[in-house]
Amino acid sequence: MTLPVGLDLRGRRVVAVGGGPKVVAAVRDVVAAGGLVEVVATWVCEDLAALAETGEVAWRTAEYGGPPDLFGAWLVVAGSGDVAVDARVRADAEDAATWCIGVGADSGAGSAHLPRSAAVALPHGTVTVSTHAGGDDLLAGDVTRVVASVLEGGAVDLRRRAPRTGIGWVALVGGGPGADGLLTTRGRQLLATADVVVADRLAPRAVLESLPASVRVVDVGKAPGRHVLAQDAINDLLVTEALAGRGVVRLKGGDPYVLGRGGEERLACEARGIEVEVVPGVTSAVAVPAAAGIPVTHRGVARGFTVVTGHDELPEVPAGTDHTVVLLMGVGRLARSVTALLAAGRPAGCPVAVIERGLLPDQRVTVATLGDLVATAAAVGVENPAVVVVGDVVRLSPAWAATHDDPEPPRPPRDGIDQ
Ligand code: SAH
Repeated sequence: MTLPVGLDLRGRRVVAVGGGPKVVAAVRDVVAAGGLVEVVATWVCEDLAALAETGEVAWRTAEYGGPPDLFGAWLVVAGSGDVAVDARVRADAEDAATWCIGVGADSGAGSAHLPRSAAVALPHGTVTVSTHAGGDDLLAGDVTRVVASVLEGGAVDLRRRAPRTGIGWVALVGGGPGADGLLTTRGRQLLATADVVVADRLAPRAVLESLPASVRVVDVGKAPGRHVLAQDAINDLLVTEALAGRGVVRLKGGDPYVLGRGGEERLACEARGIEVEVVPGVTSAVAVPAAAGIPVTHRGVARGFTVVTGHDELPEVPAGTDHTVVLLMGVGRLARSVTALLAAGRPAGCPVAVIERGLLPDQRVTVATLGDLVATAAAVGVENPAVVVVGDVVRLSPAWAATHDDPEPPRPPRDGIDQ
């Protein structure tokens, strides 16, 4: 039986006997905790030598000299690698009523055991996970890693576990295109601690449904042409909640900074002295074409891509079919965009794909050419949300291959330049 305790080692003397790699791990932990380490050894490994060089530990080049070496130590590390010497160190520490950690072959024999630890940075602060496993360091290491990754992954609901004082926080979290699994780990972590979640229409719905009832979810969903809450009102809401001491996740579709007004929301919060963390998301501009088998760049086919919302910006975009154009929020203005794309010089035969509800269970891919896109879209009844992709890369989509007899499907050049 052992009693797990936390030692305040700041400024306290710790003696390590031995200079091998096993000692280094223990010494590092002690140094990190602020202990003043003296290493007693005739030889030290490279890592320990480096610590001695920077002055993080003191190294006395000597054989273990008995009880005087341990004088004044609060803690001893026995790791000389010599069974007889380590036994003497343990016995001397015992006589001096000082705890002794064994490292190496007989690590279990020491009067103290180092746990395997990991520090996890959570929105509330840093949590240290430590595991003792009866001297089995491998097991302890594995358990520590599992627990730390569960915490890091946001799977544990940590709301109201830490006292909230003063000002709260705001995080703009990119929720990805709506599919399960495309929200980042950091995003989940923040959602596991937020008091309030302010969500967009295109934010991942399943995530919202999994939140406990105690979390206030404010839906500021913007359907096209129907602004449920004006941008200023959203900014005010974020500020008010944070100033009231609450943790706020602003959950957005895709990436917060891609046509998502994330920048405006951040500035509005910062103007009121609220720190904002921005968590990038998987943007639909890239992920939704990918879901239809379309890479936005492809060696020998397209070397770049432009993301725009509609016809106004199109005259400025490179007009070759080897430059991919991705239109977001483009369904309502499809006809005008097609006119602008053709006017810029793209051929009527330029391939186009419209991907509706990308990565969601009812995703639909429609392929056409610029010349017949408007008619095709009307015939199938294309609706928001959808991403429109224009350019030769569309020929890589299985949907194109299934409907078009391409004499020469795109292939990367043999020794083309890297992209
Ligand atoms: N910030 C978001 C884009 C917001 S603009 C991002 O990075 O993805 C909203 C537009 O995104 C929609 O009109 C549509 O064009 C596109 N969009 C978002 N999610 C989509 C999805 N699952 N399928 C198709 N289009 C999507």
